[in-house]
Amino acid sequence: MVSGSRAEVSDVYPSVPEEVARLAASPEIRSAFNWFRTQEPQLAHWQTEMAKIPAPPFGETARGVWLAEKFRELGLDDVRVDDVGNVFGIHPGYGKRYIALSAHIDTVFPAGTPLNIRQQGSRLYGPGVSDNGAGVTAMLGIAALLRSVRMRHALPFLFVGNVGEEGEGDLRGMRHIFGTPRWKDSIAYSIVLDGAGADTIVAEALGSRRFEVIVRGPGGHSWSDFGAPNPIVILARTIESFCQTPVPATPKSTFNIGVIRGGTSVNSIPESASMRVDLRSTSPKELERLERALRISLDEALENEQRAVEARAAAHRKPANVSSEVVVIGDRPAGELEPGARILQVVRAVDAHLGNAAQIQRASTDANIPLSLGREAVAIGGGGSGGGAHTLQEWFDCTGREMGLKRILLTMLALAGVGE
Ligand SMILES: [Zn+2]
Repeated sequence: MVSGSRAEVSDVYPSVPEEVARLAASPEIRSAFNWFRTQEPQLAHWQTEMAKIPAPPFGETARGVWLAEKFRELGLDDVRVDDVGNVFGIHPGYGKRYIALSAHIDTVFPAGTPLNIRQQGSRLYGPGVSDNGAGVTAMLGIAALLRSVRMRHALPFLFVGNVGEEGEGDLRGMRHIFGTPRWKDSIAYSIVLDGAGADTIVAEALGSRRFEVIVRGPGGHSWSDFGAPNPIVILARTIESFCQTPVPATPKSTFNIGVIRGGTSVNSIPESASMRVDLRSTSPKELERLERALRISLDEALENEQRAVEARAAAHRKPANVSSEVVVIGDRPAGELEPGARILQVVRAVDAHLGNAAQIQRASTDANIPLSLGREAVAIGGGGSGGGAHTLQEWFDCTGREMGLKRILLTMLALAGVGE
């Protein structure tokens, strides 16, 4: 009986590759693919225009306003901006669950960074052109296509330009979306567009924890207060000891001290010093172990400095009050797709159909949030190629952008099912 019913099911529902092949053979898809071919000047224009609008972490408002305007121009329904600055637009379908297509609009570049965006032939140059100019532009390309070429699809599409993906943004845009019942309960599948390319599928969410470690002491004059505890020395000792923590190659785990601050002048004992630490691992257990090692190194460094102060104590009478604080400034949950997840089958089938070679990767992206909640999500590129992400030398090359767009479109349509 069991095998009988299985046979029935496979008679009624085509396999994912069959479904993708049938979709791709439809006249609408053929006209869509032709349409993409003619759009590069418009796409490059949007990409350049957007990259010129500053979008530092926690400062994405102006870019959000620009994107909402584009969503309206492209005829998306119910365009809105939520409390944290995420921009939404809907392309209607049938049914209450959405296929979400999202791209982060924030950059890593602080306010005031010169945004010298320029085009030379097929290449765009400047901060943020690829990460995430490529992702946002691909999203706009899909929205524009839906306005120009009629596409039948069942489930509606939710377009999202979200804030807070990079650095200390800590995925706050996506976290907010999946913390809002309206979206949390209605997003069936999430396709996250991040950066350029069409050669990866991020199906596993790399976890990370980030800390600001602050050490405070009484401070003082370098000569007359000599002997008082020195927060910079404590931090240095912490780093020296923590960086000797062994890390396994598998599961890959890493640490970095990225920023160090402290002190006021060469002849003052600093009152405080701080550092920012980034821990990453594909394993939640390794992350915990690294965090413990960091805290132990800090405690030991404090004790050592206290002892050193006592040894020097004859020279000074100030209380040796010294304290430390470890503030969590980032916490990105790990997670991964079930091997049989439909979204992965669809992307794989689309890639096979398009003759596109792509590899599964583990990374930290907006997809961490739905993946950590057990939802189906992938992060893929917006097509073309790019490099120098997070540097002022960032570039994007539009050659091959079409492949990225075709891949996104087919994936969305296959996930949504074809409506009437
Ligand atoms: Zn990005």
